[in-house]
Amino acid sequence: MRTQRQVVDYSLRKRVVLRELLAGRVGTYDLCDASPYLKNAARFHGEPTDQRCPICRSENLTHVHYIYGDELKQSAGQARTVAELSVLAMTLREFQVFVVEVCLGCDWNHLVEQYLLGRDGLTGGVDGGSEQEAASGVAAAAGAGARRRREAQR
Ligand SMILES: [Zn+2]
Repeated sequence: MRTQRQVVDYSLRKRVVLRELLAGRVGTYDLCDASPYLKNAARFHGEPTDQRCPICRSENLTHVHYIYGDELKQSAGQARTVAELSVLAMTLREFQVFVVEVCLGCDWNHLVEQYLLGRDGLTGGVDGGSEQEAASGVAAAAGAGARRRREAQR
């Protein structure tokens, strides 16, 4: 997404957790504990991926995007689809996104990354000619998910 910034990647932490599991220092019971809320969010607002679950290896992971920030008011803490994020990113100045991967098969869940979205990330201002540019950015971001899904089906 065009305004994405201050990305924090948690893949290293995920590898550590999976290594702990392989070594038997933690059990799947401790790791596969997705709450009913998280699973509902995955079903209704999640973004399907073509990544296999590292635990059960029978389901693909779903990414859930949680949004936080003062500008969101009562929507803070809720899950949003990627298409909705693109629209918010062009509307609001700044908000935080947390991406959680969830397996609907075995309830594995882990924080993937966090980043900031919003108009504040657009360089060169948002007035005048960049309005159109911003709109095409939204369209491109919204299309990315569908494109990924089509590729996954091949
Ligand atoms: Zn799984």
